[in-house]
Amino acid sequence: MTKFDIVIVGGGIVGSASAYYLKKHGFAGSVAIVEKDTSWQSGCTARSCGGLRQQFSTPENIALSKFGVGVVKTLKEEFGPEADVGFREQGYLILATAGGMPILEENHAVQIANGADNVLLRGAELPARFPWLNAEGLAGGCFGLSGEGWVDPYSLAALFRKAALARGVTLIQGEVAAVTRAGNRISEVMLASGETISCGMLVNAAGTGAGRLAEQAGIPLPVGPRKRYVFVFDCPGATEALHKAPLTVEPGGIYFRPEGRNFICGLSPEEHEEPQVFDWEVDHAWFEERIWERLAERVPLFEAIKVIGSWTGHYDYNALDQNAVIGPHPEVKNFLFANGYSGHGLQQGPASGNAIAELVVHGGYRTIDLTRFGYERIVRNAPLFEKNVI
Ligand SMILES: Cc1cc2nc3c(=O)[nH]c(=O)nc-3n(C[C@H](O)[C@H](O)[C@H](O)COP(=O)(O)OP(=O)(O)OC[C@H]3O[C@@H](n4cnc5c(N)ncnc54)[C@H](O)[C@@H]3O)c2cc1C
Repeated sequence: MTKFDIVIVGGGIVGSASAYYLKKHGFAGSVAIVEKDTSWQSGCTARSCGGLRQQFSTPENIALSKFGVGVVKTLKEEFGPEADVGFREQGYLILATAGGMPILEENHAVQIANGADNVLLRGAELPARFPWLNAEGLAGGCFGLSGEGWVDPYSLAALFRKAALARGVTLIQGEVAAVTRAGNRISEVMLASGETISCGMLVNAAGTGAGRLAEQAGIPLPVGPRKRYVFVFDCPGATEALHKAPLTVEPGGIYFRPEGRNFICGLSPEEHEEPQVFDWEVDHAWFEERIWERLAERVPLFEAIKVIGSWTGHYDYNALDQNAVIGPHPEVKNFLFANGYSGHGLQQGPASGNAIAELVVHGGYRTIDLTRFGYERIVRNAPLFEKNVI
Protein backbone atom coordinates (compact mmCIF):
# COMPACT_ATOMS: atom_id res chain seq x y z
CA MET A 1 0.00 0.00 0.00
CA THR A 2 1.23 3.49 -0.89
CA LYS A 3 1.39 5.93 2.02
CA PHE A 4 1.43 9.73 2.10
CA ASP A 5 1.28 12.15 5.00
CA ILE A 6 -1.20 14.29 3.09
CA VAL A 7 -3.44 13.21 0.23
CA ILE A 8 -5.16 16.01 -1.68
CA VAL A 9 -8.08 14.91 -3.83
CA GLY A 10 -8.27 17.20 -6.87
CA GLY A 11 -5.55 19.00 -8.77
CA GLY A 12 -7.42 22.12 -9.88
CA ILE A 13 -6.46 25.56 -8.61
CA VAL A 14 -7.38 24.72 -4.99
CA GLY A 15 -5.61 21.37 -4.78
CA SER A 16 -2.54 22.62 -6.64
CA ALA A 17 -2.26 25.77 -4.52
CA SER A 18 -2.70 23.72 -1.33
CA ALA A 19 0.14 21.44 -2.37
CA TYR A 20 2.33 24.38 -3.35
CA TYR A 21 1.82 26.33 -0.11
CA LEU A 22 2.29 23.23 2.05
CA LYS A 23 5.79 22.97 0.64
CA LYS A 24 6.35 26.74 0.70
CA HIS A 25 5.41 26.83 4.40
CA GLY A 26 8.00 24.11 5.04
CA PHE A 27 5.87 20.98 5.34
CA ALA A 28 8.53 18.26 5.28
CA GLY A 29 6.24 15.24 4.95
CA SER A 30 5.03 13.53 1.80
CA VAL A 31 2.19 15.07 -0.22
CA ALA A 32 0.21 13.53 -3.09
CA ILE A 33 -2.43 15.03 -5.36
CA VAL A 34 -4.87 12.42 -6.64
CA GLU A 35 -6.57 13.59 -9.82
CA LYS A 36 -8.92 11.66 -12.07
CA ASP A 37 -8.61 13.94 -15.12
CA THR A 38 -5.02 14.90 -15.82
CA SER A 39 -6.05 16.51 -19.10
CA TRP A 40 -7.52 19.13 -16.68
CA GLN A 41 -10.40 19.73 -19.10
CA SER A 42 -13.42 18.75 -17.02
CA GLY A 43 -12.67 20.52 -13.74
CA CYS A 44 -14.05 23.95 -12.91
CA THR A 45 -10.68 25.63 -13.15
CA ALA A 46 -10.06 25.30 -16.89
CA ARG A 47 -13.72 26.15 -17.65
CA SER A 48 -13.75 29.25 -15.49
CA CYS A 49 -13.89 32.81 -16.84
CA GLY A 50 -10.85 33.66 -14.74
CA GLY A 51 -12.34 36.75 -13.10
CA LEU A 52 -10.87 38.44 -10.03
CA ARG A 53 -12.92 40.98 -8.12
CA GLN A 54 -13.24 42.56 -4.72
CA GLN A 55 -16.93 43.25 -5.08
CA PHE A 56 -18.28 40.79 -2.52
CA SER A 57 -20.56 41.22 0.48
CA THR A 58 -18.55 38.97 2.81
CA PRO A 59 -15.25 40.39 4.21
CA GLU A 60 -13.54 36.98 4.01
CA ASN A 61 -14.29 36.81 0.27
CA ILE A 62 -12.72 40.22 -0.27
CA ALA A 63 -9.61 39.14 1.65
CA LEU A 64 -9.37 35.81 -0.21
CA SER A 65 -9.63 37.54 -3.57
CA LYS A 66 -7.19 40.30 -2.65
CA PHE A 67 -4.66 37.58 -1.83
CA GLY A 68 -5.28 36.09 -5.29
CA VAL A 69 -4.71 39.46 -6.95
CA GLY A 70 -1.51 39.83 -4.94
CA VAL A 71 -0.26 36.52 -6.35
CA VAL A 72 -1.18 37.51 -9.89
CA LYS A 73 0.65 40.82 -9.51
CA THR A 74 3.83 39.20 -8.15
CA LEU A 75 3.76 36.16 -10.37
CA LYS A 76 7.32 36.45 -11.63
CA GLU A 77 8.73 36.70 -8.10
CA GLU A 78 6.74 33.64 -7.05
CA PHE A 79 7.16 31.42 -10.11
CA GLY A 80 9.99 32.86 -12.20
CA PRO A 81 10.46 35.30 -15.08
CA GLU A 82 8.48 33.27 -17.63
CA ALA A 83 5.32 33.19 -15.50
CA ASP A 84 2.40 34.95 -17.20
CA VAL A 85 -1.35 34.51 -16.81
CA GLY A 86 -2.42 37.38 -19.08
CA PHE A 87 -3.85 39.58 -16.32
CA ARG A 88 -6.20 42.23 -17.72
CA GLU A 89 -6.82 44.71 -14.91
CA GLN A 90 -9.96 46.22 -16.46
CA GLY A 91 -12.14 46.07 -13.35
CA TYR A 92 -15.66 44.88 -12.65
CA LEU A 93 -18.70 47.12 -13.06
CA ILE A 94 -21.78 45.98 -11.15
CA LEU A 95 -24.86 47.97 -12.19
CA ALA A 96 -28.01 48.65 -10.19
CA THR A 97 -31.48 50.07 -10.66
CA ALA A 98 -32.90 52.38 -7.99
CA GLY A 99 -34.27 49.31 -6.20
CA GLY A 100 -30.84 47.65 -6.14
CA MET A 101 -28.90 50.74 -5.04
CA PRO A 102 -29.21 50.23 -1.26
CA ILE A 103 -27.59 46.77 -1.55
CA LEU A 104 -24.89 48.08 -3.89
CA GLU A 105 -24.14 50.89 -1.41
CA GLU A 106 -24.10 48.48 1.52
CA ASN A 107 -21.73 46.12 -0.30
CA HIS A 108 -19.55 49.03 -1.37
CA ALA A 109 -19.19 50.15 2.25
CA VAL A 110 -18.10 46.62 3.27
CA GLN A 111 -15.64 46.53 0.37
CA ILE A 112 -14.08 49.92 1.21
CA ALA A 113 -13.83 48.97 4.90
CA ASN A 114 -11.92 45.89 3.78
CA GLY A 115 -9.43 47.68 1.56
CA ALA A 116 -11.05 47.34 -1.87
CA ASP A 117 -10.29 50.02 -4.46
CA ASN A 118 -13.82 50.63 -5.78
CA VAL A 119 -15.87 53.68 -6.61
CA LEU A 120 -19.63 54.18 -6.68
CA LEU A 121 -20.82 55.95 -9.82
CA ARG A 122 -24.26 57.52 -9.95
CA GLY A 123 -26.61 58.50 -12.78
CA ALA A 124 -24.84 60.42 -15.53
CA GLU A 125 -21.41 59.44 -14.22
CA LEU A 126 -21.97 56.01 -15.79
CA PRO A 127 -22.30 56.93 -19.50
CA ALA A 128 -19.67 59.65 -19.02
CA ARG A 129 -17.17 56.97 -18.02
CA PHE A 130 -18.51 54.16 -20.22
CA PRO A 131 -19.81 55.73 -23.46
CA TRP A 132 -20.93 52.36 -24.85
CA LEU A 133 -23.43 51.91 -21.99
CA ASN A 134 -27.14 52.68 -22.22
CA ALA A 135 -27.74 53.92 -18.67
CA GLU A 136 -31.52 54.17 -18.98
CA GLY A 137 -33.17 52.74 -15.88
CA LEU A 138 -29.89 52.54 -14.01
CA ALA A 139 -29.31 54.42 -10.75
CA GLY A 140 -25.62 53.62 -10.47
CA GLY A 141 -22.82 51.13 -10.51
CA CYS A 142 -19.80 50.05 -8.53
CA PHE A 143 -16.54 50.03 -10.49
CA GLY A 144 -13.23 48.49 -9.44
CA LEU A 145 -10.42 50.98 -10.00
CA SER A 146 -7.64 48.46 -9.42
CA GLY A 147 -7.15 44.86 -8.38
CA GLU A 148 -9.98 43.53 -10.52
CA GLY A 149 -9.99 41.92 -13.93
CA TRP A 150 -9.33 38.50 -15.36
CA VAL A 151 -6.59 35.98 -16.05
CA ASP A 152 -6.15 32.76 -17.96
CA PRO A 153 -7.33 30.27 -15.31
CA TYR A 154 -5.65 27.21 -16.77
CA SER A 155 -2.23 28.92 -16.73
CA LEU A 156 -2.63 30.07 -13.14
CA ALA A 157 -3.42 26.56 -11.90
CA ALA A 158 -0.63 25.08 -14.01
CA LEU A 159 1.92 27.43 -12.38
CA PHE A 160 0.93 26.22 -8.90
CA ARG A 161 0.87 22.59 -9.98
CA LYS A 162 4.26 22.65 -11.69
CA ALA A 163 5.83 24.49 -8.76
CA ALA A 164 4.33 21.99 -6.29
CA LEU A 165 5.62 19.02 -8.28
CA ALA A 166 9.04 20.66 -8.52
CA ARG A 167 9.04 20.82 -4.70
CA GLY A 168 8.49 17.09 -4.39
CA VAL A 169 4.70 16.70 -4.46
CA THR A 170 3.54 13.49 -6.20
CA LEU A 171 0.75 13.51 -8.78
CA ILE A 172 -1.28 10.29 -8.91
CA GLN A 173 -3.70 9.77 -11.75
CA GLY A 174 -6.83 8.04 -10.50
CA GLU A 175 -10.31 8.53 -9.15
CA VAL A 176 -10.96 8.20 -5.44
CA ALA A 177 -13.86 5.75 -5.27
CA ALA A 178 -13.97 5.09 -1.51
CA VAL A 179 -12.74 6.66 1.71
CA THR A 180 -11.98 4.55 4.77
CA ARG A 181 -12.80 6.11 8.10
CA ALA A 182 -11.82 4.47 11.36
CA GLY A 183 -13.87 6.28 13.99
CA ASN A 184 -12.88 9.91 13.84
CA ARG A 185 -9.93 9.44 11.52
CA ILE A 186 -9.62 9.04 7.79
CA SER A 187 -7.11 6.25 7.29
CA GLU A 188 -7.01 5.64 3.55
CA VAL A 189 -8.60 6.22 0.18
CA MET A 190 -9.26 3.60 -2.46
CA LEU A 191 -8.99 4.41 -6.15
CA ALA A 192 -11.32 3.09 -8.82
CA SER A 193 -8.41 0.91 -9.96
CA GLY A 194 -8.51 -0.87 -6.58
CA GLU A 195 -5.24 0.68 -5.37
CA THR A 196 -5.34 1.94 -1.79
CA ILE A 197 -3.43 4.94 -0.50
CA SER A 198 -2.95 5.43 3.21
CA CYS A 199 -3.04 9.03 4.40
CA GLY A 200 -2.23 11.00 7.54
CA MET A 201 -4.57 13.76 6.38
CA LEU A 202 -7.07 14.04 3.57
CA VAL A 203 -7.73 17.36 1.84
CA ASN A 204 -10.98 17.66 -0.09
CA ALA A 205 -10.19 19.83 -3.12
CA ALA A 206 -12.49 17.87 -5.41
CA GLY A 207 -14.45 20.82 -6.86
CA THR A 208 -17.90 19.67 -7.94
CA GLY A 209 -17.03 16.18 -6.62
CA ALA A 210 -16.52 17.52 -3.08
CA GLY A 211 -19.95 16.55 -1.77
CA ARG A 212 -19.53 13.02 -3.09
CA LEU A 213 -16.06 12.64 -1.56
CA ALA A 214 -17.35 13.83 1.83
CA GLU A 215 -20.27 11.43 1.57
CA GLN A 216 -17.80 8.58 1.01
CA ALA A 217 -16.46 9.42 4.46
CA GLY A 218 -20.00 9.51 5.86
CA ILE A 219 -20.00 13.30 6.11
CA PRO A 220 -22.66 15.56 4.59
CA LEU A 221 -21.43 18.51 2.52
CA PRO A 222 -23.96 20.47 0.41
CA VAL A 223 -21.58 21.00 -2.53
CA GLY A 224 -22.36 19.75 -6.02
CA PRO A 225 -22.39 20.79 -9.68
CA ARG A 226 -24.47 23.59 -11.21
CA LYS A 227 -24.38 23.85 -14.99
CA ARG A 228 -23.33 27.19 -16.47
CA TYR A 229 -22.96 28.33 -20.12
CA VAL A 230 -20.47 30.84 -21.46
CA PHE A 231 -20.96 32.33 -24.95
CA VAL A 232 -18.20 33.86 -27.06
CA PHE A 233 -19.15 36.50 -29.62
CA ASP A 234 -17.63 38.83 -32.15
CA CYS A 235 -18.87 42.42 -32.37
CA PRO A 236 -17.46 43.99 -35.57
CA GLY A 237 -18.69 47.46 -34.55
CA ALA A 238 -17.07 47.44 -31.13
CA THR A 239 -15.20 50.63 -30.30
CA GLU A 240 -11.84 50.72 -28.53
CA ALA A 241 -13.67 51.92 -25.41
CA LEU A 242 -15.86 48.81 -25.51
CA HIS A 243 -12.82 46.58 -25.93
CA LYS A 244 -11.47 48.20 -22.75
CA ALA A 245 -14.73 47.60 -20.84
CA PRO A 246 -14.72 46.09 -17.37
CA LEU A 247 -16.52 42.83 -16.66
CA THR A 248 -19.97 44.36 -16.55
CA VAL A 249 -22.94 42.87 -14.73
CA GLU A 250 -26.35 44.33 -15.56
CA PRO A 251 -29.07 44.36 -12.87
CA GLY A 252 -30.69 41.17 -14.20
CA GLY A 253 -27.43 39.24 -13.73
CA ILE A 254 -26.23 39.09 -17.35
CA TYR A 255 -22.49 39.65 -17.50
CA PHE A 256 -20.10 40.31 -20.36
CA ARG A 257 -16.45 41.16 -20.75
CA PRO A 258 -13.89 41.50 -23.52
CA GLU A 259 -11.93 38.34 -24.36
CA GLY A 260 -9.06 39.21 -26.67
CA ARG A 261 -10.76 40.98 -29.62
CA ASN A 262 -14.02 39.12 -28.90
CA PHE A 263 -16.38 39.12 -25.93
CA ILE A 264 -17.81 36.53 -23.57
CA CYS A 265 -21.09 36.60 -21.69
CA GLY A 266 -23.34 34.49 -19.51
CA LEU A 267 -26.23 34.44 -17.08
CA SER A 268 -26.79 32.17 -14.08
CA PRO A 269 -30.25 30.62 -14.01
CA GLU A 270 -32.77 31.21 -11.23
CA GLU A 271 -33.11 28.34 -8.75
CA HIS A 272 -36.22 26.96 -10.52
CA GLU A 273 -34.48 27.05 -13.93
CA GLU A 274 -31.34 25.12 -12.91
CA PRO A 275 -30.56 22.45 -15.52
CA GLN A 276 -30.58 19.01 -13.94
CA VAL A 277 -28.40 17.24 -16.51
CA PHE A 278 -24.69 17.54 -15.86
CA ASP A 279 -23.27 16.90 -19.30
CA TRP A 280 -21.26 19.37 -21.37
CA GLU A 281 -24.01 20.31 -23.83
CA VAL A 282 -24.67 24.02 -24.32
CA ASP A 283 -28.28 25.22 -24.40
CA HIS A 284 -28.02 27.72 -27.26
CA ALA A 285 -31.56 28.95 -26.66
CA TRP A 286 -30.26 30.36 -23.35
CA PHE A 287 -28.30 32.99 -25.28
CA GLU A 288 -31.03 33.63 -27.82
CA GLU A 289 -33.95 33.82 -25.40
CA ARG A 290 -32.46 35.05 -22.15
CA ILE A 291 -29.32 37.02 -22.90
CA TRP A 292 -29.00 38.71 -26.26
CA GLU A 293 -31.93 41.11 -26.27
CA ARG A 294 -31.26 42.42 -22.77
CA LEU A 295 -27.54 42.66 -23.42
CA ALA A 296 -28.13 44.67 -26.61
CA GLU A 297 -30.48 46.98 -24.74
CA ARG A 298 -27.70 47.73 -22.28
CA VAL A 299 -24.93 47.92 -24.89
CA PRO A 300 -26.50 49.01 -28.21
CA LEU A 301 -23.33 48.09 -30.18
CA PHE A 302 -24.16 44.47 -29.32
CA GLU A 303 -27.19 44.57 -31.60
CA ALA A 304 -24.90 43.35 -34.40
CA ILE A 305 -22.90 40.40 -33.12
CA LYS A 306 -22.07 36.84 -34.10
CA VAL A 307 -21.77 34.02 -31.60
CA ILE A 308 -18.57 32.21 -32.52
CA GLY A 309 -18.22 29.76 -29.66
CA SER A 310 -19.54 28.58 -26.32
CA TRP A 311 -18.74 26.20 -23.49
CA THR A 312 -20.32 24.59 -20.49
CA GLY A 313 -18.76 24.49 -17.06
CA HIS A 314 -20.01 23.21 -13.73
CA TYR A 315 -19.95 25.55 -10.74
CA ASP A 316 -18.80 23.94 -7.47
CA TYR A 317 -21.95 25.19 -5.77
CA ASN A 318 -22.53 25.36 -2.02
CA ALA A 319 -26.31 25.10 -1.72
CA LEU A 320 -26.28 26.32 1.90
CA ASP A 321 -24.95 29.84 1.37
CA GLN A 322 -22.79 30.12 -1.79
CA ASN A 323 -19.65 30.58 0.29
CA ALA A 324 -16.63 28.33 0.54
CA VAL A 325 -16.26 25.73 3.28
CA ILE A 326 -12.67 25.84 4.48
CA GLY A 327 -10.97 24.04 7.34
CA PRO A 328 -11.13 20.72 9.19
CA HIS A 329 -14.18 18.69 10.07
CA PRO A 330 -14.82 19.41 13.78
CA GLU A 331 -14.69 15.72 14.73
CA VAL A 332 -12.87 14.01 11.88
CA LYS A 333 -10.00 16.42 12.33
CA ASN A 334 -7.68 14.92 9.71
CA PHE A 335 -10.23 15.66 6.96
CA LEU A 336 -9.87 19.22 5.63
CA PHE A 337 -12.28 20.99 3.30
CA ALA A 338 -11.62 23.63 0.64
CA ASN A 339 -14.88 23.50 -1.29
CA GLY A 340 -18.07 25.13 -2.48
CA TYR A 341 -16.74 28.36 -4.00
CA SER A 342 -19.93 28.78 -6.05
CA GLY A 343 -18.36 30.57 -9.00
CA HIS A 344 -15.51 32.47 -7.34
CA GLY A 345 -12.99 29.75 -6.55
CA LEU A 346 -10.45 30.57 -9.23
CA GLN A 347 -9.55 33.87 -7.59
CA GLN A 348 -9.83 32.33 -4.11
CA GLY A 349 -7.81 29.20 -4.87
CA PRO A 350 -4.41 30.67 -4.01
CA ALA A 351 -5.54 32.05 -0.62
CA SER A 352 -7.41 28.83 0.15
CA GLY A 353 -4.30 26.78 -0.56
CA ASN A 354 -2.32 29.09 1.70
CA ALA A 355 -4.97 28.72 4.42
CA ILE A 356 -4.89 24.92 4.24
CA ALA A 357 -1.09 25.02 4.52
CA GLU A 358 -1.27 27.37 7.53
CA LEU A 359 -3.69 25.02 9.30
CA VAL A 360 -1.44 22.03 8.70
CA VAL A 361 1.94 23.63 9.33
CA HIS A 362 1.12 26.27 11.98
CA GLY A 363 -2.03 24.79 13.47
CA GLY A 364 -4.09 27.93 12.72
CA TYR A 365 -4.73 30.76 10.30
CA ARG A 366 -1.96 33.35 9.98
CA THR A 367 -2.95 35.42 6.94
CA ILE A 368 -6.77 35.46 6.77
CA ASP A 369 -9.01 34.34 9.62
CA LEU A 370 -11.39 31.93 7.91
CA THR A 371 -13.03 30.62 11.07
CA ARG A 372 -16.47 31.75 9.89
CA PHE A 373 -16.00 29.69 6.71
CA GLY A 374 -15.52 26.52 8.78
CA TYR A 375 -17.58 23.34 8.47
CA GLU A 376 -19.33 24.10 11.79
CA ARG A 377 -21.89 26.29 10.04
CA ILE A 378 -23.02 23.25 8.02
CA VAL A 379 -23.63 21.34 11.25
CA ARG A 380 -25.52 24.28 12.76
CA ASN A 381 -27.35 24.93 9.49
CA ALA A 382 -26.31 28.55 9.94
CA PRO A 383 -25.71 30.04 6.49
CA LEU A 384 -23.31 32.92 5.93
CA PHE A 385 -24.77 34.22 2.69
CA GLU A 386 -22.70 35.83 -0.05
CA LYS A 387 -24.95 38.30 -1.89
CA ASN A 388 -22.73 38.93 -4.89
CA VAL A 389 -22.79 35.60 -6.73
CA ILE A 390 -22.45 36.09 -10.47
C1 LIG B 1 -18.29 28.71 -16.32
C2 LIG B 1 -17.54 29.03 -15.07
C3 LIG B 1 -17.05 30.33 -14.89
C4 LIG B 1 -16.36 30.64 -13.73
N1 LIG B 1 -15.85 31.89 -13.59
C5 LIG B 1 -15.12 32.19 -12.50
C6 LIG B 1 -14.52 33.46 -12.37
O1 LIG B 1 -14.66 34.32 -13.23
N2 LIG B 1 -13.78 33.70 -11.26
C7 LIG B 1 -13.60 32.78 -10.29
O2 LIG B 1 -12.93 33.06 -9.29
N3 LIG B 1 -14.14 31.54 -10.39
C8 LIG B 1 -14.89 31.23 -11.46
N4 LIG B 1 -15.46 30.00 -11.58
C9 LIG B 1 -15.37 29.08 -10.45
C10 LIG B 1 -14.02 28.43 -10.39
O3 LIG B 1 -13.69 27.92 -11.66
C11 LIG B 1 -14.04 27.30 -9.36
O4 LIG B 1 -14.61 27.76 -8.17
C12 LIG B 1 -12.63 26.83 -9.09
O5 LIG B 1 -11.97 26.52 -10.29
C13 LIG B 1 -12.65 25.64 -8.16
O6 LIG B 1 -11.37 25.07 -8.15
P1 LIG B 1 -11.15 23.63 -7.58
O7 LIG B 1 -9.71 23.33 -7.66
O8 LIG B 1 -11.81 23.54 -6.25
O9 LIG B 1 -12.02 22.71 -8.53
P2 LIG B 1 -11.66 21.98 -9.91
O10 LIG B 1 -10.88 22.84 -10.79
O11 LIG B 1 -12.92 21.41 -10.42
O12 LIG B 1 -10.70 20.84 -9.43
C14 LIG B 1 -11.21 19.71 -8.76
C15 LIG B 1 -10.56 18.49 -9.36
O13 LIG B 1 -10.91 17.35 -8.59
C16 LIG B 1 -10.99 16.26 -9.46
N5 LIG B 1 -11.78 15.25 -8.76
C17 LIG B 1 -13.06 15.36 -8.35
N6 LIG B 1 -13.44 14.25 -7.71
C18 LIG B 1 -12.38 13.42 -7.73
C19 LIG B 1 -12.17 12.12 -7.23
N7 LIG B 1 -13.12 11.44 -6.57
N8 LIG B 1 -10.97 11.53 -7.43
C20 LIG B 1 -9.97 12.22 -8.08
N9 LIG B 1 -10.13 13.44 -8.59
C21 LIG B 1 -11.32 14.04 -8.40
C22 LIG B 1 -11.63 16.82 -10.71
O14 LIG B 1 -11.31 16.04 -11.86
C23 LIG B 1 -11.02 18.21 -10.78
O15 LIG B 1 -9.92 18.31 -11.66
C24 LIG B 1 -16.16 29.64 -12.72
C25 LIG B 1 -16.61 28.34 -12.93
C26 LIG B 1 -17.29 28.03 -14.09
C27 LIG B 1 -17.77 26.63 -14.28
